[in-house]
Amino acid sequence: MKIQKQQIQKRSKKTAIILPIALLCILFILFIVGFVSLQPVLTKFTEYTAGQSSAGQRNQYGLAVPVRSPYEDEAWFSDPLGLLLVVDRNTALSADYEPLDLVNLESHGVKTRHAHLQGRIVAIYDLLSMFEEAKKDSHFFYVFSSYRSYETQKETYNYWVQQLGKAEADRSSARPGHSEHQLGTTFDMSATDYKGDVFDGFDKSPAGIWLAENAWKYGFVMSYPENSEAITGYIHEPWHFRYVGRGCSKVIFELGVIPSVFIRELDVYRKSKQEEETPAHADSKLKVLGRLP
Ligand SMILES: [Zn+2]
Repeated sequence: MKIQKQQIQKRSKKTAIILPIALLCILFILFIVGFVSLQPVLTKFTEYTAGQSSAGQRNQYGLAVPVRSPYEDEAWFSDPLGLLLVVDRNTALSADYEPLDLVNLESHGVKTRHAHLQGRIVAIYDLLSMFEEAKKDSHFFYVFSSYRSYETQKETYNYWVQQLGKAEADRSSARPGHSEHQLGTTFDMSATDYKGDVFDGFDKSPAGIWLAENAWKYGFVMSYPENSEAITGYIHEPWHFRYVGRGCSKVIFELGVIPSVFIRELDVYRKSKQEEETPAHADSKLKVLGRLP
């Protein structure tokens, strides 16, 4: 009996030591597993907050300049912000298409030629970042044309038809509904170190070269690059940039494709994917086959 009692006492002593150690080990393992699985999120968060704080700089209006647009979505492919709508010679926006998030550019710190100019706020953060970065290279950009409603585009187009005749006007001015300016994410830009809004030679000027080389880093693409008139229908416009988001602009830049061609192909691809995945479509297919009442 005495020996048994001693054995039990010994065992409970052992348990008293082993149990906490085992618990500590389990906790340690759980901590490691948790930390490893959270690591990507943590890294992202750290990068994000670091980006925010290094942004610390302010523009001439005293507004903080974010390094990266808070609206930027890495899932750009699904286009949650409607940045990749097809607008070209063949496809028009409806007359009543008007973005819901239009804001005044000047009041958001963007330098412009005309105080009334507007744009979609989703594009403005990156536009500001780009203009701020350009200042480091002594280029002081401003916007001289941005959002145009269907009606305004109608007036603009008619003006150019009167000035140049229909054939020539069609090369540089879009018909109503066909202008990327109706998107609210397209901006015509020039720089104060350039000779104003005059277009001739802008692509050869240091400011024009800077834009062509750097705009993609901020989510912008040059819609009508050199030697693309046969495809886009418009003359080379080195001042006209459309915001498509950083994810998409990087791909367009790296592939070296004409933006409108890429956006159209992407649209076709996305629609085919949606059709594959939509149950309603599957049902209608089955109905056609006579399997459903
Ligand atoms: Zn333009």
